[in-house]
Amino acid sequence: MDKTQLQGLKVMSPGPTQINKTVLNALSEAYTNPDLDPKFVVYYKETCDYFNRMIQNDGETFLLTGEGILGLEAACASFIEEGDRVLTISNGIFGKGFEDFSKLYGAKTALFEGDPRQGIDLEALEMFILNQGPFKLATVVHCETPSGLTNPIKEIGRLLRKYNILSVVDSVSAIGGEEMDMASWELDVVLCASQKAISAPVGLTTVSLSKRALQVLKERQSPVRGFYNNLKLWLDYEEKQWFAYTQPIHLVVAFRTALEQMELETSLKNHKALAEAVRLSFTKAGLTLFAKSHYANTVTTVMLPEGLDFSKLQDRLKTVHKTLIGGGFDFLENKIFRIGHMGQNATFEDLYDLLVALDECFNAFEVPLEASLSTSFEALMR
Ligand SMILES: *Cc1c(COP(=O)(O)O)cnc(C)c1O
Repeated sequence: MDKTQLQGLKVMSPGPTQINKTVLNALSEAYTNPDLDPKFVVYYKETCDYFNRMIQNDGETFLLTGEGILGLEAACASFIEEGDRVLTISNGIFGKGFEDFSKLYGAKTALFEGDPRQGIDLEALEMFILNQGPFKLATVVHCETPSGLTNPIKEIGRLLRKYNILSVVDSVSAIGGEEMDMASWELDVVLCASQKAISAPVGLTTVSLSKRALQVLKERQSPVRGFYNNLKLWLDYEEKQWFAYTQPIHLVVAFRTALEQMELETSLKNHKALAEAVRLSFTKAGLTLFAKSHYANTVTTVMLPEGLDFSKLQDRLKTVHKTLIGGGFDFLENKIFRIGHMGQNATFEDLYDLLVALDECFNAFEVPLEASLSTSFEALMR
């Protein structure tokens, strides 16, 4: 198989998202040696600071080489010490998955399980903390990508701070498409990755630490289990002009290019308007969204109509329409389909084309719709 066989499909899944030409072009140039040229350290630091301002963090951001999961694991490895009590706040697959990482690094965990179809209930969470606390740290997911809902992170952040619990937030599929104000929401550790709403190539994860989190990390006594996971190695890279491993300079330049081309205010408004119109188009057609409230602006999860297999839908989208969408995994396997309208996927044209394709597929599979998806979408966005 040659690489052309990996091309030709329009990727409308909830990450990795489409990457535009400006960002792709950044990958095809020659750059300096990041190990030997101090200019790279300056460029790296500026890139981290740029991201830091975007999410309103008054601490530091580090860029790690690895896909989004690395950030989640590094946060657990670096902030959890043997026997620490950790609260897992879960109402979805990523939320629950965090518990495994916490356990792996020695935590005694307590699991708060919310309704998988709605955002976390703050009163219930506070009761849980009062009954089961105290906790050193809590993990929570901003946007549960598999189910298409966002949690009220602002309120959760402030609640956790009230009980002096360090917050670790997976915002991998939210930042860039959902508001993030780390300092005023009192969040401590916020994680993101390059390939979702930022629309840069897969391979970088961002770890943003509040001043408080930086202090906790500096004061950690026991050694961090792991090397790639050890955020302490990043604390003095600038001073020492040294990174723990060779930095992927092309990925860093591409990531920075993607950040610079994003106008955040416009991007947030755009994500919101498109997401609302996508959701309404599905409900007008008589289909059911998986989320019952707290809908995500970056991804929409729709229940598969009775009797329609996801693999059939995906096959037809691929062969007839040269388009790829997301499906369900874990408890959502073959129950839902997902559309990623984040980053470069968040355009009227791409979403309209996708809905035209879905109209055709449902027609071909004799799934009756109460209204055409694309017609509704077009009317709503006019
Ligand atoms: C994508 C994503 C990650 C990173 O994991 P993948 O292996 O790319 O799925 C982590 N958390 C969330 C919420 C994500 O959407």
